[in-house]
Amino acid sequence: MEFTFNKEQLAWQKKAREFSNEIIRPASVERDLIADPAKTFDWEIIRKGSQLGFRTLAVPKKWGGHGLDLVTQVLVMVELARGDASISKTFSQCWKWSQLIAAVCTDEQKERFLKPFIADETYLLGLGANEPSGGSDNRMPPEDAPTAGMRLKAERQGDEWILNGEKCFIANGNIAKLLFIRARTNPAVSVRSGTTLFLVPRDTPGFRVGRVFNKNGWRFYQNAELIFENARIPHSNLVGKVNGGAEARGGDPSQFSDLELGANALGVCDAAVEMAMQRIKQRHYGGHPLLEQQTIQLKLSRMHMLTEALRSFMLRVAWERDQAVAGNADYLKSANNMLALTFSADTVQSVTNLNMEIHGACTGGAHPAAYKLVRDAIIWTHLAGDSVNRIKGIKSVMSHAH
Ligand SMILES: Cc1cc2nc3c(=O)[nH]c(=O)nc-3n(C[C@H](O)[C@H](O)[C@H](O)COP(=O)(O)OP(=O)(O)OC[C@H]3O[C@@H](n4cnc5c(N)ncnc54)[C@H](O)[C@@H]3O)c2cc1C
Repeated sequence: MEFTFNKEQLAWQKKAREFSNEIIRPASVERDLIADPAKTFDWEIIRKGSQLGFRTLAVPKKWGGHGLDLVTQVLVMVELARGDASISKTFSQCWKWSQLIAAVCTDEQKERFLKPFIADETYLLGLGANEPSGGSDNRMPPEDAPTAGMRLKAERQGDEWILNGEKCFIANGNIAKLLFIRARTNPAVSVRSGTTLFLVPRDTPGFRVGRVFNKNGWRFYQNAELIFENARIPHSNLVGKVNGGAEARGGDPSQFSDLELGANALGVCDAAVEMAMQRIKQRHYGGHPLLEQQTIQLKLSRMHMLTEALRSFMLRVAWERDQAVAGNADYLKSANNMLALTFSADTVQSVTNLNMEIHGACTGGAHPAAYKLVRDAIIWTHLAGDSVNRIKGIKSVMSHAH
């Protein structure tokens, strides 16, 4: 395995670091402290990032994007997240879903949706699966029971599909111009075999956005309710096959989902280590800097050790998946995939807690940035399901054990 980066990867990493230092970081705490969750968002940051290619970097070159591999996506994500994990995540939503359009949609759909996405600096993307009645049951037992999983219904009428129901907590839900929506097309079978994926433009008749959720962390990131009341979707917006919703997503080896969350966590860990380092140099007791205290050194070394372990893990998963995209499907069997997400949740929470300890009682008041990192880290608990996901990771380890 080769962990030296090529010139293109290093150039993207540098560009992302500069954008993060100059544009994201100065806005981060200020945006986080805005009370109304629908007002924390800032289109100017998206426009500027978009001009530098941070919105469209995963679209293949053939379709006008930058075609970056997953290792480079990880490098960029880490830098953006060092500035703010909810701003990086707003951009990376677009990487995942534009890549999905490129991987599984027809050329006609790519013409209709990828071209305007590339051209418009404010064109954002999202995907809605989660619903008020539940989220984990789309992938956890009893996922095979017809009664488990999403309920939003799609019924065919001539050349259209009529959608009725609700999605909740959908990222970029209130600001995206295009959303992938997974809906029930056969209620008599499991969610795996009875759902279909649709492309839903923002201006679809019968579709509207409900409330924006007020989260304690990732406050810039917009999570919204999506409401479908006889929403009319043309048949030409169906992705893949009827009842092939799970297959359409699962068939794409270039998925960034868990890597995205791991790389985002890594950026937060980097920020926490940097912040703790500054603090222990500046804070003095009895004329000595805090960094001379052995217990403080132990805490800092633990933060550093966990951060570097996460970095190695994420780059390895990214590298393995890039090999799979390049045609070596064996790498997709890697047991690392599900465990990457839960390891990043554990790591980001431990590292940000240690940073909070090092900042002492000032964390909540004089150091809102340290406190923000802890609140941001809590978000990892519920992303794509909580630590129960380890069960899937362990099943994967067992099924591939020799
Ligand atoms: C910041 C953020 C962004 C998100 N963005 C999106 C998005 O863009 N699109 C989208 O579709 N969703 C999104 N989600 C939703 C996310 O996918 C769900 O939160 C997640 O699937 C968990 O669902 P839930 O919150 O309904 O929890 P529930 O499913 O209600 O789970 C609650 C608890 O029960 C446990 N549990 C549930 N079933 C089982 C089981 N069978 N066995 C054991 N324990 C079980 C869970 O582990 C958990 O501890 C987002 C969530 C967050 C926090």
